Amino acid sequence: MIGREDIGGVHIKYLHHCRRQLWLYVRGIRPEHLSAAVQTGEAVHDVSYPRHSPVDLGAARLDFLDGQQWVHEVKSSSRPTDADRAQAYHYCHQLQRLGVEVQGAVLHYPATRRTHRYPYTPEAAAQAEEDITAALATAHAPVYPERLPRTGCRGCSFADYCWTE
Ligand code: SF4
Repeated sequence: MIGREDIGGVHIKYLHHCRRQLWLYVRGIRPEHLSAAVQTGEAVHDVSYPRHSPVDLGAARLDFLDGQQWVHEVKSSSRPTDADRAQAYHYCHQLQRLGVEVQGAVLHYPATRRTHRYPYTPEAAAQAEEDITAALATAHAPVYPERLPRTGCRGCSFADYCWTE
């Protein structure tokens, strides 16, 4: 089972969207169209910022880091979510751990041409630590967490698993 150093951006994103999604993901259950969604995200990045290279942090992979030490993430969705912000803070946390004095994160939403900037404050760092602890607790839970209300499952790639009787 995974440990603290294995927690990546996807784990944190799922933690904030749906703990059951995280629980299934760490057990290797990956619906076909989940990989299609990932490919779409990568394509949006490639088209939007072709001159920037992703940064591989092992468990986490961020879209790019600029010369002012801001993490940049390109999102294929049209509106920001708490999960996006938590994922970005996680990347800041990982970089800080490696000795990079990161300033914060900039989230780009090409579909709506919006940009959101989140400074990496002490509060954000504390949240990132708490999120890792919560993600591990969820991953190690002996039984899967409850489903979200159906309205929260719209577009989730695990819907067949959760809602087919
Ligand atoms: S279908 Fe709903 S309950 Fe199941 S993993 Fe997705 S969001 Fe969670």
